[in-house]
Amino acid sequence: MEEFDLILIGAGLANGLIALGLLHGRPEMRIALIEAGEIGGNHTWCFQESDVPAHALPWLGPLISHSWAAQDVHFPGRSRRIANGYCAVTSARFREVLAGARLTLLAPMRAIGITPSGVRLADGRELRAPAVIDGRGQRPSRHLDVRAQKFVGLEVRTAAPHGLSAPVIMDARIAQRDGYRFFYVLPLAADCLLIEDTRYSDAMALDGAALRADVLEYARANHWEITEILREEEGVLPVALGGDIAAFWAEGAEGQGGAGVARSGLAGAFFHPMTGYSLPDGVRLAQALAALPSLTSASAHAAARGLSMRLWRERRFFRMLARMLFDAALPDQRWRVLRRHYGLSEGLIARFYAARLTFADKIRILAGKPPVPIGAALVSLLRPAPAPIHQQIEPI
Ligand SMILES: Cc1cc2nc3c(=O)[nH]c(=O)nc-3n(C[C@H](O)[C@H](O)[C@H](O)COP(=O)(O)OP(=O)(O)OC[C@H]3O[C@@H](n4cnc5c(N)ncnc54)[C@H](O)[C@@H]3O)c2cc1C
Repeated sequence: MEEFDLILIGAGLANGLIALGLLHGRPEMRIALIEAGEIGGNHTWCFQESDVPAHALPWLGPLISHSWAAQDVHFPGRSRRIANGYCAVTSARFREVLAGARLTLLAPMRAIGITPSGVRLADGRELRAPAVIDGRGQRPSRHLDVRAQKFVGLEVRTAAPHGLSAPVIMDARIAQRDGYRFFYVLPLAADCLLIEDTRYSDAMALDGAALRADVLEYARANHWEITEILREEEGVLPVALGGDIAAFWAEGAEGQGGAGVARSGLAGAFFHPMTGYSLPDGVRLAQALAALPSLTSASAHAAARGLSMRLWRERRFFRMLARMLFDAALPDQRWRVLRRHYGLSEGLIARFYAARLTFADKIRILAGKPPVPIGAALVSLLRPAPAPIHQQIEPI
């Protein structure tokens, strides 16, 4: 029986952040990180510079593989450069940093039995610790009403410098299909781009082949000659329209992660309701756990559940906007909601991403001529939440 101070199940984004955040303040901590697949998976995780507090940078900073001083958006009739820094964490950098940290990494290794005091591994070994955290990622729940932000991204080498100096967060000057559709482009080097075809869609199913072909078509239209496809990533991220967060957390107690086991990341509903992004919440949770005077399964569970429920309550407005986007706007007209949003002030846009809108921001967002028909918008706002889940994600 091996003993640790903390066992983290799943070496994905959330648990990696927790490990690094805790080790920063308590380097003597004995942490085991158990991963069934590859540590960090296959992602390019991005965040707005203003999404995370400066005091997290001493431990978060080493994860940042790329950063830019500004970002661009393009809509029919509106192009804009936004002077907010943008940062990327690649899975490769994430693995490198975790491999260099004082951690016991067990990968590939599946955790099969999880309790608040330990875990049983697929090879029969048992690990014990006073604190266990389940960060096994996205899972279906009948208590969350979510739709999809889905995408396929190709990281490509271009024959000549592509000429982009800043990420293109949204380029919606394209045919709309399968909901609100836009391209997302990160200039990773002078001759290297990550190009993603993204859709805010009612259906969770992803047609990888079709989106891949669309990425290549977009590259051709921009006169970027591709000499090599370096890697590929895809995702179906949750966009939250409603739900019952208390029931969601109670569901975990029914057996998903074992009663009383804290949940991190998407497993704990730590994501921005409109973007599905979870890195800023991952930093928040890591900091909340690092601030606990004593880390046990009970204290971690209370802290994680408390934070998740508080964030959920505070983000009601975002779920209402998501309902307006999905229910009020016709799928091929959803881009109008986003175009209007990107006409607002830079400060408001930054607070939107950080999920820290002020009351005045909310009024500002709702003021003026609605970009979608008012009748449909009202119906969507009055629609009671939650509704049954629309996910078809494979259970983990
Ligand atoms: C391709 C992609 C790009 C994304 N880009 C961004 C972005 O730019 N910014 C952002 O903020 N968010 C982004 N997201 C959304 C979200 O932040 C990520 O999904 C993030 O990885 C979620 O973190 P997590 O720790 O909850 O889960 P994950 O990172 O998915 O980690 C869960 C881990 O648990 C492991 N696991 C599962 N079961 C077991 C088991 N029984 N035993 C051991 N290990 C197990 C899995 O193999 C996995 O590695 C992206 C998502 C995807 C898919």
